[in-house]
Amino acid sequence: MTATNVAPFAAAAAPPAPRLSQLRGLDYSVVQQCMHCGLCLPTCPTYDATKLERHSPRGRIALMRAIADGRLEPTRIFGDEMYFCLGCLACMTACPAGVNYAELFEHARAEAEESGALRNPKRSFIRWLTMRWLFMDLRRLRFVGALIRLYQQLGLQGLLRGSGVLKLAPRRLRELEAMTPVVQLKFSAELIAPVTPAVGGKRFRVALLTGCAQDLMFSDVNRDTAEVLARNGCEVVTPPRQNCCGSLHAHNGELGMARALARKSIDLFPPEQFDAIISNAAGCGSHLKHYRRLLADDPVYRARAALWDAKLKDIHEWLVAIGLTPPKAGAAARTVTYHEACHLCHGQKITAPPRQLLGAIPGLKLVELPESDWCCGSAGIYNVIQPEMANKLLDRKLGHIVSTGAQVVAVGNPGCLAHMANGIRRDHLPVRLAHPITLLAEAYRAESPQP
Ligand code: SF4
Ligand code: SF4
Repeated sequence: MTATNVAPFAAAAAPPAPRLSQLRGLDYSVVQQCMHCGLCLPTCPTYDATKLERHSPRGRIALMRAIADGRLEPTRIFGDEMYFCLGCLACMTACPAGVNYAELFEHARAEAEESGALRNPKRSFIRWLTMRWLFMDLRRLRFVGALIRLYQQLGLQGLLRGSGVLKLAPRRLRELEAMTPVVQLKFSAELIAPVTPAVGGKRFRVALLTGCAQDLMFSDVNRDTAEVLARNGCEVVTPPRQNCCGSLHAHNGELGMARALARKSIDLFPPEQFDAIISNAAGCGSHLKHYRRLLADDPVYRARAALWDAKLKDIHEWLVAIGLTPPKAGAAARTVTYHEACHLCHGQKITAPPRQLLGAIPGLKLVELPESDWCCGSAGIYNVIQPEMANKLLDRKLGHIVSTGAQVVAVGNPGCLAHMANGIRRDHLPVRLAHPITLLAEAYRAESPQP
């Protein structure tokens, strides 16, 4: 028998390589941290809504540990439970034992994906289309965004909504249509120069991340961020072609793609060349600060990833750290309340800086929002895959907003902004949503009106 004849036979006879379990491969000190005290339970929105242990952080961690210990195989019930979790990380803030739920959660979703427990052709196709096709190459995302923009600008969306045809569509399709994001007239690269000079003397050189969904829906917030940074002595480098940071992939069980995107980000924004790398999207920032953990096994990138983590700053924390130049004038007097995006307050533990920035705007009265750190239901793509729970949380959030009497709600995350905008439009509430940095940029513009 020739070698060429042997090889196929040998390959067929070889036992399949054992699947590497994400949870069994995780550092056991992370897996066994939970001491079952239950102090996190009252802070968990899914436990609060159901009062079921399996929908609580403690219950979910018990499931993850059972898999890590080899007492349980990942099943569909396990996978569904991991996707019923919002990933809001409120449990991490509450936990006295310092359980790293963020890391457990990412590996648990990766376990669910890699085990195939949730696999079906429709789901696999949607995941391939979004995570691999759209978000691994943002030219495709922008192309789709431009098509949606055309559909909206030509008035076709308004016609469709006004015609009543949608009433005949299945409920799920109606829900998805209502979530269609409003695409901006210009993307970030058309609004921001590759290098924005510092105003009044350069103190720092920073890079600005323009994001993926943020670029489509809130490129104006990116422009405002560049302006505010420049007003505070920063030269702002904004490459026109950027890539997704990988948070969507990491939070949805695609750690391999998340690692590939992290390497691309480090190459595009060499951390050794900047004083800071700025994110203005809470969900992205929370992920971007952990590239070292993500690339721990990569001998080429791990040292630069550690430097990257040290340089990565949320816009609010950066402006407070360098000493904000307060605007001298404000816009018209108004009452503002502040919703805390989960991945800013729980993921990054940034709570005071956004309030400090808002408090620095003349004429702005800040009123506290009840349950300001309770998830609004957006949670990445949670509102798309779990619309019922997402809408319950949205209703709760809107009720609190109305109770404050505020005219403006400040929100530092594109997912929350889009989700809450849908609710405000649906309920015809007379409230404006704005990123805190937009309110700051408006105050600077009022101080020195543009020609
Ligand atoms: S991340 Fe949020 S939803 Fe998930 S277990 Fe923790 S508190 Fe509950
Ligand atoms: S996650 Fe933390 S707060 Fe929750 S039960 Fe475990 S140790 Fe207690």
